[in-house]
Amino acid sequence: MNVASLTIDAVRSSIQERHTTALALAEAHYARIKERDGEIGAFLTLCRDRALAQADRIDRMAEEGEPLPPIAGLPIAIKDVMSTRGVRTTAGSKMLEQYIPPYDCTAVSRLESAGAVVLGKTNCDEFAMGSSNENSAFHPVRNPHDLNRVPGGSSGGSAAAVAADMVVAALGSDTGGSIRQPASFCGVVGLMPTYGRVSRYGLIAFASSLDHIGPLTRTVKDAAIILGTIAGRDPMDSTSAEVPVPDYVAELEKPVRAMKLGVAKEYFGEGLNDDVRQAVEAAIDKLRNLGCEIVPISLPHTPYAIPTYYLIATAEASSNLARYDGVRYSLRARGVKTLSEMYRRSRDEGFGTEVKRRIMLGTYALSAGYYDAYYLKAQKVRTLLTRDFDEAFQRVDAILTPTSPTAAFRLGEKSNDPLSMYLADIYTVTADLAGIPGISVPCGKTKEKLPIGLQILGKHFDESTILRVAHAYEQA
Ligand code: GLN
Repeated sequence: MNVASLTIDAVRSSIQERHTTALALAEAHYARIKERDGEIGAFLTLCRDRALAQADRIDRMAEEGEPLPPIAGLPIAIKDVMSTRGVRTTAGSKMLEQYIPPYDCTAVSRLESAGAVVLGKTNCDEFAMGSSNENSAFHPVRNPHDLNRVPGGSSGGSAAAVAADMVVAALGSDTGGSIRQPASFCGVVGLMPTYGRVSRYGLIAFASSLDHIGPLTRTVKDAAIILGTIAGRDPMDSTSAEVPVPDYVAELEKPVRAMKLGVAKEYFGEGLNDDVRQAVEAAIDKLRNLGCEIVPISLPHTPYAIPTYYLIATAEASSNLARYDGVRYSLRARGVKTLSEMYRRSRDEGFGTEVKRRIMLGTYALSAGYYDAYYLKAQKVRTLLTRDFDEAFQRVDAILTPTSPTAAFRLGEKSNDPLSMYLADIYTVTADLAGIPGISVPCGKTKEKLPIGLQILGKHFDESTILRVAHAYEQA
């Protein structure tokens, strides 16, 4: 069976019409994983038994002529920061190498209730900290478009799995760009919903005020379908919002004519690669030709976004990661004599370099005497960044930017220079800080044939508009 370029609709109708079975689809994708993943490294764990049991359930429904749920039989992968009952969940860390969660992440259980077949858990930067997937404690992921390049991060395994046809869709998480940037590097669609739109219950916390779960897919419509499946209030996450979830798919087809799209000069400055600039400008022209009005805007606090993000994210991480003490579910060092030695050695052996760096930075920023100067100040700048967007959205319906200043870089190119890795997050961290939704949609390739992403940012809880713009662009 040819698994290339399948979409959710194609999967569901071919099962409903009995051209194939969910079981055959799962097996075909496992065969593809066997063939491709040796060199790509997108998966950390496969959960065959769970997948085949679910596929069997779907096939019985099809056999009995029951109407199938919306994403019936959909082969999907889950970033390994989302808990899966009975299936090892590592967060890309030695610390959780043996961790088997006793419960499911809400986003995962909603997908399975809607018929999805989870094939496995995907590789990522340790605790989602990184932009290249090189911070995985297990092995790096290679970009399917060029095996010498990174797939982006931290949801690099999810993006690569979709790009290499090993699954039809995947879930990722985005704290500072980790869905959108790997989507752009791997040539797929990546959607970060509004903060609060999708429950974080069962997501291993990195920075709780910035963490989001969202889909990586081949098409904008597929992203709309997955978002509709996982969105909505969850009593298990008090920050999940009680905001009605629209029919995202129905909204896709509404016209974009006369829509106002902002272009901020701060997103086209120094450091933006020429090929990326040209591709994004061409995409903007295309949207103009579709009848959108392109409006120049300014987001003046953008230059402060990176330091603000790396203070808040590290501060929250230092607090969240305090729980890995070797006492409960994480790695415990052997041969220690005292309790404090056990804490120290367990954390030393369990965490990798980048995670330690962040815990130290964040602990420093939160410590007495420095809290006001760093953490509190960063929170104030965060408010200013959010206001920039609020003001812009009084004039425009959505904002167009590059997703990342460059296309995929080479493995090892930035791994010894954390600062240059951090700086490349410039176009994505702002939406996380403001809590607004953003989508990355493929918009051409560089001279080296590497994918480029167009980012579309929207108002709080207005994923419909950015999906609609992305869909119109994709169809054109
Ligand atoms: N690259 C950013 C970081 O390293 C974003 C990570 C993320 O979104 N999880 O923190």
